[in-house]
Amino acid sequence: MPDQERPHIIIVGAGIAGLTAAIHIGEGADALVKSGKMAARPDITLLEADAIAGGRARTKLLSNGLAVDAGPHWFHGGESNALYQWATDNRHYSLGDISLDTAKHRVNVSSAQGMSPDQREWGLTRLFEMYSVWQSQHPGEDIALGQLARMTGSPIITKIADERANNWMAVEDADHVSAQEYWGDDAGSGGMQLADGMERLVGAMVEDAEYYQAHIHTRTGVRGIFERADKRLKIVTDKHNYDADHVIVTSSVGVLKSGGIAFDPSVQNHLAPELDGMTAAKMTKIFIPLRPEFFAERDIVPDTFLTFYDDRHSWLFHLHTDGKPTVTAFASGAMSEVMERMKPAAMQREILRVMDRIELLKDADDYLEGRIMRTNWSTDADFLCAYSAMLPGHKRRNPLVVGNLIFAGEAWVGDLKQGPTTMAGAFASGRIAAKKTLRKLVLNG
Ligand SMILES: Cc1cc2nc3c(=O)[nH]c(=O)nc-3n(C[C@H](O)[C@H](O)[C@H](O)COP(=O)(O)OP(=O)(O)OC[C@H]3O[C@@H](n4cnc5c(N)ncnc54)[C@H](O)[C@@H]3O)c2cc1C
Repeated sequence: MPDQERPHIIIVGAGIAGLTAAIHIGEGADALVKSGKMAARPDITLLEADAIAGGRARTKLLSNGLAVDAGPHWFHGGESNALYQWATDNRHYSLGDISLDTAKHRVNVSSAQGMSPDQREWGLTRLFEMYSVWQSQHPGEDIALGQLARMTGSPIITKIADERANNWMAVEDADHVSAQEYWGDDAGSGGMQLADGMERLVGAMVEDAEYYQAHIHTRTGVRGIFERADKRLKIVTDKHNYDADHVIVTSSVGVLKSGGIAFDPSVQNHLAPELDGMTAAKMTKIFIPLRPEFFAERDIVPDTFLTFYDDRHSWLFHLHTDGKPTVTAFASGAMSEVMERMKPAAMQREILRVMDRIELLKDADDYLEGRIMRTNWSTDADFLCAYSAMLPGHKRRNPLVVGNLIFAGEAWVGDLKQGPTTMAGAFASGRIAAKKTLRKLVLNG
């Protein structure tokens, strides 16, 4: 139990942002106590709704025993990724075998009614040219990708912009995509990958947080955070109530938008406009475990990334060939929820039907080596999205601070270069939240 004499910090969520905040607060507090700038180290408690830590960073076992990343798979940017550098160089975490997946073999396939790869290439180039012209006339301003596309006067380019919104930003249409974020956030696909999955990273971070005596309470969903008469915060969970001096909330934008956590009106007034500026982007991964012959007979080379542009929806397929013969299909936007809400057998039939329409992926049914598994990020009440997307003109907060309450996580990263929406962004924001909390503790004595 927290010591009544020491300040108590509660972190809502034990994903990458929450664990990062706990480790940095623990480490920073030790240094401050040692230097005499802080009287006693604070108590740190992480309240996690789920049964395990890691949040969206989660490894699952397929029925054939293969470990797959249900959420993030890549440290985007390879060795320059800030989280990867910190984990390996600074913390010396043992992450097992690491390889680089550059996703460099790109295959684009269109349905019969769809446009040709050449047309798409042409349209994307025109769209970027239009953005360059627009930017030179409106320096520093933002515009919706959809509006930009309509300015070209080409229905094909408008359709291409919607395709990009859907399969790249995982939202429904290009009017919800900020051109600044689309071209400014260069995470892209590919990066370092862990043979054992992100579980290795999460395991190391949990151990590190526990080294700093952070208590992780799983299966503890936070339902409300309110200011008490003495200015401390009261945290209402589905098990117990807690008191804290400082709270860092790392729940996803999907959870916050759904009203899953109640706040005082004074906090809600600050939070609502920020949430109105962001979309909860939806993405589902579907894993199709296959016998190795499937890849061998088709001459599928490592790092292949296939996009199938269907008439209304585009599918991404990541073809693992590095000893993990699995096809990972990505369903985005509205299709994500459709796939998550289907009965398992119907979902399995549907994804095999889509694959049968693509020459390279045909007849996968004959090579299946276990059950097809899907994630449920879009419909699970603890997530309700895969990541955040910024609406045109909105600036992300870095992070959002309201009194002794801080909102952190992948969505709350001001600098696009720090990778909002990714694990690197969650890490950056957890670190800033820790710094701000420590500063307040020192100032308050
Ligand atoms: C399919 C998919 C693919 C992705 N691919 C990549 C990739 O390749 N590379 C990359 O860098 N990023 C990728 N991402 C994004 C990455 O997963 C996220 O940016 C990052 O993991 C977010 O971390 P976080 O700590 O901000 O949030 P989360 O991981 O969501 O952590 C928040 C935690 O809070 C908990 N929580 C929520 N509400 C409550 C509550 N009321 N009470 C208590 N606990 C609560 C949740 O259970 C969760 O554990 C992907 C995401 C998805 C879904």
